[in-house]
Amino acid sequence: MIAVENVSKRFADTVALAPLKYAFRPAATTVLIGPSGCGKSTVLRLLVGLIKPDSGHVIVNDVELSDANLQDWRHRIGYVIQDGGLFPHLTCRNNVLLLARYLKRDENWALQRLVELTELVRLPADCFDRYPQQLSGGQRQRVALLRALMLDPQVLFLDEPFGALDPMTRYALQGDLKTIFAQLNKTVVMVTHDMNEAAHFADQIVLMREGEVIQSGTPDELQTRPAERFVTEFIRAQRGWPTRFH
Ligand code: ADP
Ligand code: MG
Repeated sequence: MIAVENVSKRFADTVALAPLKYAFRPAATTVLIGPSGCGKSTVLRLLVGLIKPDSGHVIVNDVELSDANLQDWRHRIGYVIQDGGLFPHLTCRNNVLLLARYLKRDENWALQRLVELTELVRLPADCFDRYPQQLSGGQRQRVALLRALMLDPQVLFLDEPFGALDPMTRYALQGDLKTIFAQLNKTVVMVTHDMNEAAHFADQIVLMREGEVIQSGTPDELQTRPAERFVTEFIRAQRGWPTRFH
């Protein structure tokens, strides 16, 4: 089980997270959504162990995330950020094989896995000889996703993974990714500020404002039983919603 228990975080005078409590549903996709600056990325950074909470605990697999288990946790997860976060000085092949090599996994196994995943994420095989900047934005995100999936992570964390893509590329990748998630049956935690995207992916939506969870539930619950006026206003502000709701 993955959870945050009364986790809070400040950056100087900014309260990024008020004490926050939430348990992420296993084998489901949870989408964190809310206005810019509400603390979505901070939650993800806490969950992946890039930053530590000021108070409270991050719970992974029923134990508190700590210096003792952080490394092991980092090797069990996939993390994809807006621009992919690939190393620019490594070819895409070396990017995706980096961790497997570091962990001394069998090279033939890793190369075979790369082939399988290339098919899954629908990339042309010749992408891997190139450097990240020699790919399109959509291809780069597919490589970043493949890298995240390489060691069969227990959980996938995605922070606005489509944020830098043009609308058609985003639409195609959103479609493919949903199919991939359904096939893999993994715990996924995704951040977005786009309600269409949230509704497309989410089993559970967590709507945040100013470091607090305002409401969590299914897309349908947020729409039909809003916890407060802000929920309805946030949904209404997303032009065209719920065009991809069902
Ligand atoms: P979101 O991802 O929802 O847009 P963030 O989690 O990135 O929001 O940020 C929440 C708040 O914390 C914002 O006010 C942001 O400016 C602040 N913040 C985040 N990271 C830092 C940091 N490293 N240093 C200072 N302030 C930060
Ligand atoms: Mg963010």
